[in-house]
Amino acid sequence: MRTYKSRETGRTPALRVRLTLHGAVQGVGFRPFVYRLAAELGLKGWVLNSGLGLEIEVEGLPDATREFLDRLESERPAAAVVLTRELSRHSAAGYETFEIRNSEDSEIKTAGVLPDLATCPACLAELSDPENRRHGYPFTNCTHCGPRYSIVLDIPYDRRTTTMARFKLCPACRAEYEDPGDRRFHAQPNACPECGPRLEITGASSAAEVLAGGGILALKGIGGYQLLVDARNREAVERLRERKSREAKPFALMMATLEAVRRYCEVSADEADALASPAAPIVLLRPREAAGIAENVAPGSPYLGVMLPCSPLHHLLLGEFPHPIVATSGNRSDEPIAIDNQEATERLGPIADAFVHHNRPIARPCDDSVVRVSGGVPCLIRRARGFAPLPVRVGHELPPVLAVGGHLKNTVAIARGREVFLSQHVGDLDTIEARRGFERAIEDLCRLYCFEPEAVVCDLHPDYASTRWARASGLPVIAVQHHQAHVAACAAENDVHEPYLGVAWDGTGYGMDGTIWGGEMFLVDGLKMERVAHLRPFRLPGGEAAIRECRRSAAGVLFEIGMEFEGPPQIRQMLERGVNSPVTTSVGRLFDAVAALTGVAYENRFEGQAAIRLECAASSFRKNDAYALPEGNWEPIIREIFHDVKHGVDPRLIAARFHNALAGWILATAREHGVRHVVVSGGVFQNQYLSMKIDNLLKKTELILRAHQRVPPNDGGLALGQAVLAAATASPQRRGP
Ligand code: ZN
Ligand code: ZN
Ligand code: FE
Repeated sequence: MRTYKSRETGRTPALRVRLTLHGAVQGVGFRPFVYRLAAELGLKGWVLNSGLGLEIEVEGLPDATREFLDRLESERPAAAVVLTRELSRHSAAGYETFEIRNSEDSEIKTAGVLPDLATCPACLAELSDPENRRHGYPFTNCTHCGPRYSIVLDIPYDRRTTTMARFKLCPACRAEYEDPGDRRFHAQPNACPECGPRLEITGASSAAEVLAGGGILALKGIGGYQLLVDARNREAVERLRERKSREAKPFALMMATLEAVRRYCEVSADEADALASPAAPIVLLRPREAAGIAENVAPGSPYLGVMLPCSPLHHLLLGEFPHPIVATSGNRSDEPIAIDNQEATERLGPIADAFVHHNRPIARPCDDSVVRVSGGVPCLIRRARGFAPLPVRVGHELPPVLAVGGHLKNTVAIARGREVFLSQHVGDLDTIEARRGFERAIEDLCRLYCFEPEAVVCDLHPDYASTRWARASGLPVIAVQHHQAHVAACAAENDVHEPYLGVAWDGTGYGMDGTIWGGEMFLVDGLKMERVAHLRPFRLPGGEAAIRECRRSAAGVLFEIGMEFEGPPQIRQMLERGVNSPVTTSVGRLFDAVAALTGVAYENRFEGQAAIRLECAASSFRKNDAYALPEGNWEPIIREIFHDVKHGVDPRLIAARFHNALAGWILATAREHGVRHVVVSGGVFQNQYLSMKIDNLLKKTELILRAHQRVPPNDGGLALGQAVLAAATASPQRRGP
């Protein structure tokens, strides 16, 4: 080890460097790491968690401070996310020691709170070590793992500002907490069986017994209660569906280890990484055939959503009951997840046969996140536990606005300088309970970051619950078009600034002409977003009903091009009279029409079901030939599909040709407008086959594809785009000529 000592001459003056690290730098063992590094290099000064982030001053010889800065970068704790680092040099202050200063209360609160992190290997080892004092203790954690966002009540993140404040550290835990050399140094949720939270089981003597007997267990997890059943037990799963009023939407699974997951699903190296990451999200995987999971876990879906245990409590449970379990949010359909013991007992009482409660309060609900790995890149489909509330840094300063997102898969966001803090997944705003959860998420985000919005940004749709809330808020309102927000979100997270083609394809969004958009392409140049292409419009007989029944979309396209179709007379009448048949350019609905025409799927019992089946059909029959889709006119596609179906062409080939046509349309439009970047967003781009097809096409050209990575392509990403576009509208200096 090298040490830097002042030479006898003492000619080299000491240098003082001041550093501020923004991002998720608190609660990850950063301060002890800085302390040890400074001590090793013989540097003096201090380190402090403040409302700004992590502040450091080190003083010593220039070589030593340089090495300090290098190693701060290369050896910092793995869980830390440093978003920016501000550095200034000063003359020496004459520090005599290096110390960890107490956290400061601060007026300016921008410090990132970390997401909840899954149990680390060191804690896991202690958990299963009979000699360890935390053997079998379900609330074991350290600076590298454990709850964060789900326990923090205020920042700076410190024990007294978390829901752990009520637990007084025992001498042994306090010693760990105060020892800079210990893995639990300043681990805010540090606890042991002596002094920490405890479990309480009601309705049964053991949780494993409930599962083994086919019962439904409600368990207080990290971000809320979960409902658990044996995933191999068809009757148990059916009972859960009935009691939860969840008809067909797939349930997520939890499995004990990566090996267990491999027994039931195909797992690529990238998928394994995602599963085992500290976020421990649900990862969508292809199941192995006849693997023994009850078919009603994910009926009609080609995927299983699987996660690994995300807390010691889950590890212990799966140790006792070593089988795949359904792990779904503790709520009835469309309601927020229950987090409070009393509330859970009341709301989940009619669903669960037994409860596992504990007395560590959950600060806010946070569902499990969902990830799909596409072309080796993890794509977030639901951003919640393990990711929220990490901010997204954008390219320019934003006005202090609150973005309230869409109506489905709602998230909200606040913009602060160059950072956008996105809430966890709030959900669909169809019920009063869900809307209350939405309001709580707004209050929570604003309170946590001491944020007072100057304006509210919402969707252009007048009937979204989020739009209504914005209009009633009393603040200035900025309404942003749905698909423009999609595109802006993706451009912002990828830091794309030069003119680009923004492609926004989804199921439904309120268009600027009052019709339902969903197959849009924009040429974006600075603040100008010009709609340069869209799908040929068609009618949706029955409006909302068409989302569920694919035949209605099929009838709409056939009617539009004057082709014969079978169907109930009232659908024909609706189309002929143009009654209750809104006009749409939705690519999502075109997927439904094609699914119905090919017989691949006739209904969406959950959102996107037919499109997922069509995607699966295409990906099992990879072919490069494509139907013609000249300038978004799908008429040739429909006519050729009719021809192909009549001639017995494999529906999988039809599905591939359809996907390929869509990809080709993007390439042609990008070429036509001479842009270099293509930015894709909207729920349709959860389609892995389509995304990869576009990527492959563009790779052969000079064009660059930019897709979502950190926020979902679906409406869960809207709030980011709204916040970004508000800057264009709100700040006078950025207004166009
Ligand atoms: Zn740990
Ligand atoms: Zn203790
Ligand atoms: Fe959308």
